Amino acid sequence: MDVERNAQRKGEETTHGHERRGRELLGRRTEAVEDYAKAIFSLQRRGNRGVSTNALAEHLGLSPGAVSGMLKRMDEMHLVVHERYHGVRLTAAGEKVALEVLRHHRLIEAYLAEAFGMSWDRVHAEAEVLEHYISDELGELIAEALGDPERDPHGDPIPDRQLTLPQDETRALVELEPGESGVFTVVSDRDSSMLRYLAERDICPGVELEVEDKQPFEGPVLVRVGDQVHSLGGALARSMRVSPA
Ligand SMILES: [Zn+2]
Repeated sequence: MDVERNAQRKGEETTHGHERRGRELLGRRTEAVEDYAKAIFSLQRRGNRGVSTNALAEHLGLSPGAVSGMLKRMDEMHLVVHERYHGVRLTAAGEKVALEVLRHHRLIEAYLAEAFGMSWDRVHAEAEVLEHYISDELGELIAEALGDPERDPHGDPIPDRQLTLPQDETRALVELEPGESGVFTVVSDRDSSMLRYLAERDICPGVELEVEDKQPFEGPVLVRVGDQVHSLGGALARSMRVSPA
């Protein structure tokens, strides 16, 4: 009897032990881990072979020391691999984390803009917080309510239900030569003052624009939208992406 009870208790302890370890592992997928995965993903997508600690630190506004500590942890979690001389890359598991968070982020942005008419420079800040907290189920309800949108209000593609994201075929506006035109599709959502500046000039994703002139050394780019010509600063023109007209 005692033996049985002991065996039972031992069994319970093992189960509890497993649960605890499971919780610990889940607990390690913190907001920070998700933010890092997202940042590495976006830097990788810009064509870097691997992402250096410095590039990541700059992107996240953190010190390289803090970043390498976190990368070590993510390595232990099998979310990143270190590539000699090239920094880190996401593993398939790391990419999944990034795409899940991106899907939530962009669906939330689309929902806030659609349901509350929130401006595109404000939705990002809200989504940065909420992306870590909504369940997959709520994410799917939002997607359904919006009719499975393909893009967020900034023009960024939303990963689909299978977490696939179309190839990025856009170019930075600053790369276009005078006489070339394209459709403005994406602007980085990280700088809300840029977003406001564009919105005030009615330059929103979907408008067609033509480069009239371009100053050297990252100087302003003169862009025609309809019958208006705008002078857009070099930093702005670098953040704006256009797809073929
Ligand atoms: Zn955003």
